[in-house]
Amino acid sequence: MRYDQARWTNDGAEGDDAEGQYELLLSEKNSKTVDVESPLPDDLTRENLELPDLSEPELARHYTRLSQMNYGVDSGPYPLGSCTMKYNPKFTEDVAALPSAAVHPDRSAESVQGSLAVMHGLQDYLARIGGMDAVSLQPPAGAAGEFTGILVAKAFHEQNGEGDQRDEIIVPDSAHGTNFASAALAGYEVVELPSGDDGRVDLEALEAAASRRTALFMLTNPNTLGLFERDIEEIADIVHDAGGLLYYDGANLNALLGQARPGDMGFDIMHYNVHKTFATPHGGGGPGAGPVGVVSDLAEFLPAPRVREVGRRDGEGRGTGGVYERFDPENTVGKVHGFAGNWLVLLKAYAYIARLGDEGLTDASAKAVLNANYLASQIDYDIPFGPFHHEFVASAGDQDAADVAKRMLDYGVHPPTTKWPEIVPEALMTEPTEIEGKDTLDQLAEAFDAVAAEDDETLASAPNRTTARRIDQTSAARDLRLSWQSLEAEE
Ligand SMILES: *Cc1c(COP(=O)(O)O)cnc(C)c1O
Repeated sequence: MRYDQARWTNDGAEGDDAEGQYELLLSEKNSKTVDVESPLPDDLTRENLELPDLSEPELARHYTRLSQMNYGVDSGPYPLGSCTMKYNPKFTEDVAALPSAAVHPDRSAESVQGSLAVMHGLQDYLARIGGMDAVSLQPPAGAAGEFTGILVAKAFHEQNGEGDQRDEIIVPDSAHGTNFASAALAGYEVVELPSGDDGRVDLEALEAAASRRTALFMLTNPNTLGLFERDIEEIADIVHDAGGLLYYDGANLNALLGQARPGDMGFDIMHYNVHKTFATPHGGGGPGAGPVGVVSDLAEFLPAPRVREVGRRDGEGRGTGGVYERFDPENTVGKVHGFAGNWLVLLKAYAYIARLGDEGLTDASAKAVLNANYLASQIDYDIPFGPFHHEFVASAGDQDAADVAKRMLDYGVHPPTTKWPEIVPEALMTEPTEIEGKDTLDQLAEAFDAVAAEDDETLASAPNRTTARRIDQTSAARDLRLSWQSLEAEE
């Protein structure tokens, strides 16, 4: 199996010998004391500053080594279910790096018509893809989109005089943790809906849960087991008959592009995880964006500002095309982020959608579904539900899913998401995405099957071939050390 991480840092050592040999910090390699001359007042300046003193090749090698210790979508397959870790085409970075993309967000609308045209175009693309009538680009992540969507629903119910009465949000037990958290953060009672035996929404349970207290039902479709909610029209009727609204968690939209639209299924509000579906780099806390789309009745509540077209150019001077302005929706819930949201992330998403077009997006989701089903057919682990859309959830059975994940690292591939959703014991939630070819999928299947055949002792000692070995995650989380210097002082 391929493996070449940490070649330099560990000096080729394997096993215990290699443990703890990390790349030194720049300042540990060589530093020198410099006296800084500054026009600032003395009490604002430091004397005798210690700064790293290294040559360009030393620096280049340092950062290259660090990048080699990392694993990313540019290194190999990354089937981290629900996160849609696809390869991010580099042309989107080129677009985001254009000097004209770096406009100050406070500039007048007249002077940034090009950027406003892109924002307007993206609002339009997303509305068409989701079957929604109006979109706000402002929320900075999927979770922030959820919270925003809930505020929109709240404003709608308040306007109807039902704000106090509708104090519950229903969330299926298979949902992402952020759904529960967003609902609670917005002040709602969270009603957890148990899934049916087939892993989908249990209509009878939903009938029983929906009432005049229901503000919103939040649903992911296909759900987190990769299963399409076939009864979505009945689900929408049940929620709407109770006077509630239906919210679409767009994290799994990669399964539906060009195939089906949440708006056509009866959803009223949705967010788009553009960093997942439309391939902008994410993970490690990197910036994302979670635009929110709504049906026309809810457009007046969206966050401000949005962008609209107010006329057409006459072909003189600055050419043809639309004239755009920012505006505040009439009964806006306010701002949920600075300015237009994470502009460069949005710009990359726009470039990605424009480049793929209708045909490319439709093809992407078809291949994402094909790849998930092919990989599912190749691995030895038990997969309780199916057939799948863009991801599947296998069970590690008697093995510990977290150990399986650590051990997969030794085979040079990124592991799936583990232990969620909880309705599958020791869950291995796997989403290969459309970008992998058959060889890579076979390599992934080999890694799964090799690990499936291993004993508990081997699993518990993994990973053995990565720079950082088994990390005590509990202590790391409870006893945070955020500074290298404080660490040194303690020792
Ligand atoms: C990723 C994800 C979210 C949250 O989105 P972020 O952009 O990470 O905030 C919500 N629901 C599901 C199903 C997800 O996979």
